[in-house]
Amino acid sequence: MDGNHSIRPIPVLGLVPVTDPILKKPLESCSIGLDRKELHDRLLSAMEHYQGIGLSANQIGIQERAFIMYSDVKKKEIITCFDPLITEYHLDKIIMDEGCLTWPGLWLKVERSEGIRCVYNDVDGELIQVEMHGLESRIFQHEYDHMEGTNFTQRVSRLKLNMAKRRAAKMKKKSMFSMSA
Ligand SMILES: [Zn+2]
Repeated sequence: MDGNHSIRPIPVLGLVPVTDPILKKPLESCSIGLDRKELHDRLLSAMEHYQGIGLSANQIGIQERAFIMYSDVKKKEIITCFDPLITEYHLDKIIMDEGCLTWPGLWLKVERSEGIRCVYNDVDGELIQVEMHGLESRIFQHEYDHMEGTNFTQRVSRLKLNMAKRRAAKMKKKSMFSMSA
């Protein structure tokens, strides 16, 4: 068919393995001359492909201090944050089940601030200052950790992590069983 090649979707970049050192290295400020729109497109296509609610550039092997996330999960509003910074953590803490695309099937009860104040540059380079609460605040803090080379597995005790890993492995076995049965 003619004209098929006029709009070519960009290929989805795969998630790097959990052992990749890029996940443990604090990211420096975004490169000068970074094509923000292109990075936004890459993050968006990967987040949609893996059906996440947030994704950091380093998770798909890109060494830039940037991530994408739902700023309103219900309304499906998305923001891409370049050089993000958390300027204030609210004192109220809450514990919530958290997952990460890099560790499929692993769920950890992570304690985080209920709300934050943060700043970031958007895709057009505009400086945005905003206060976030609830789920959005949690996603921002999770992705911000990725910027600092911190993974959510470091936010719980080793004991809790091992228990959660065993639970995840069991679930995997069970689902394989049900599929083949
Ligand atoms: Zn993550």
